[in-house]
Amino acid sequence: LARPLSGRVALVTGASSGIGEATAVALAEAGASVAIGARRRDRLDGLAARLGEAGAEVVTLDLDVTDEASCRDAVARTRSGLGGLDVLVNNAGVMLLGTIVGADPEDWRRMLDTNVLGLMYMTHAAIEGMVEQGSGDVVNISSVAGRQARKGAGVYNASKWAVNAFSESLRQEVTTTGVRVSLVEPGAVSTELTDHITQSEAKAASVQMYTSMRALHAEDVARAIVYVVTQPPHVAVNEVLVRPTDQE
Ligand code: NDP
Repeated sequence: LARPLSGRVALVTGASSGIGEATAVALAEAGASVAIGARRRDRLDGLAARLGEAGAEVVTLDLDVTDEASCRDAVARTRSGLGGLDVLVNNAGVMLLGTIVGADPEDWRRMLDTNVLGLMYMTHAAIEGMVEQGSGDVVNISSVAGRQARKGAGVYNASKWAVNAFSESLRQEVTTTGVRVSLVEPGAVSTELTDHITQSEAKAASVQMYTSMRALHAEDVARAIVYVVTQPPHVAVNEVLVRPTDQE
């Protein structure tokens, strides 16, 4: 069995469900030690037990990415518990779709705090060590929504646009040090993401959209992430857009 990531350490944010959970499993299967972070500790404990049974070295992190100190602590505990940090997957995110007219700005704060500032705090905490060691991967989970704005998705679009801009700027800043920065941009993936939408019409429309097609599975996106981080050091896969075949 090929274990291309053996000896490497990965930290996955938002590992308690969906794409993050599948990514932690896929990285561990590829041989990495994994630190798994999110707010729902019970879900992380279940995942840690499964990964441990499969022989992976795991650290479980109580992580709220909207809290800068929590992000710094997660990176520090990964380094002390697993001996380093080679792959950061910034996956934690929320998609609170809805119109701008009549929106509750609390939804906007949650999206920008989590999807944008959270990803920036995590990156900031991890990047210096990667630059010093002259290698590392920062994989930022954006979305088709980071490339196509649509009515009813404005602030989610804005959050993922910010992820793309931050990632490209960081890529230019660090790529010659050997650190790679990549964007993975999924289309519709069946996960818990739509559960949290607060505008009822937007939620119904979103659920209808996701169930009207053969949506991606979280594992489909995890495979793309493993592909990105298993390239030889001189190859940087900067952007991967992966949609369900059925998605227009
Ligand atoms: P899920 O809702 O299943 O997973 C979201 C994860 O983010 C959970 O593990 C959640 O954990 C975590 N999270 C949310 N807020 C925080 C926080 N403040 N601190 C730490 N962790 C947090 O959805 P997906 O797996 O679908 O979403 C993962 C990423 O993929 C998101 O960035 C999303 O925007 C992106 N994406 C998803 C698509 C889809 O169609 N599903 C399409 C394109 C992109 P907890 O609540 O335990 O903290």
